[in-house]
Amino acid sequence: MNKPAGRIGIMAAMPEELQALLDVMPDESLERRAGREFWVGHLHGREVVVVLSRIGKVAAATTTTVLLSCYGVDQIIFTGVAGGLGAGVRVGDVVVADALIQHDMDASPLFPRFELPGQGVSALAPPAALTTSVRDTVEQVLSPAALAAGGALADVHLDALGLSQPRVHQGLIISGDQFIHSAQACRDLTQALPAALAVEMEGAAVAQVCHDFGVPYAVIRTISDRADDDAHIDFPRFIEAVARHYSLAIVEALLKRG
Ligand code: SAH
Repeated sequence: MNKPAGRIGIMAAMPEELQALLDVMPDESLERRAGREFWVGHLHGREVVVVLSRIGKVAAATTTTVLLSCYGVDQIIFTGVAGGLGAGVRVGDVVVADALIQHDMDASPLFPRFELPGQGVSALAPPAALTTSVRDTVEQVLSPAALAAGGALADVHLDALGLSQPRVHQGLIISGDQFIHSAQACRDLTQALPAALAVEMEGAAVAQVCHDFGVPYAVIRTISDRADDDAHIDFPRFIEAVARHYSLAIVEALLKRG
């Protein structure tokens, strides 16, 4: 990844992901700001600030703003889970965002649907070089060889969960203040935004704040559900058995890659 000399902000969407990171940090100290717990310390020799994002766009934007303005991080890595929308985006796959849109932004007729008022665009894109580097790293971490070798992912038993070898996708992630869980809602979203691969509740807000501050960021999501009416596997179990392991392995690989 680009070689930032300074601190890296790591935002985790789930408490289990946060805990997995804290478990491998040797020296974290806790600072409370804006009702959030910021963990300042090191991970693989890099200075990091790790924090729970909190759910929803405003919560995530506030967390991002504090990370940027109080901790002066040079880069933000966001990890979490999301609903899969795109064809071929399956539970257990990972999506790396190369563009993010707020699917519930609609100030029409004043501005076109999805456009960020005053910004003249609807989609925000993280720096292409960082996205490519992150995608390459995720592909290595989740390659069949890496999974077979065990290592950081030795505790992930895909077969037991009925999952197959994860695929890594790069593309559009959409965010809004709703948990999407019906086939109709999926159809509406994919009709309006056909390029969307995944839907979640924070990424585009993080993107907007990072964009305003001019700080690079990456949004990485493990697909936990298909956002439709199908009950897949149990959400907490998926986080515990798969997503938190992926997040940790990915963040560690990104930091080691330096
Ligand atoms: N059981 C969790 C609830 C998670 S809410 C808890 O008690 O904390 C959903 C979180 O997962 C959000 O962070 C959101 O970004 C992401 N997410 C996963 N699937 C989603 C979907 N289908 N629609 C919207 N957000 C989703």
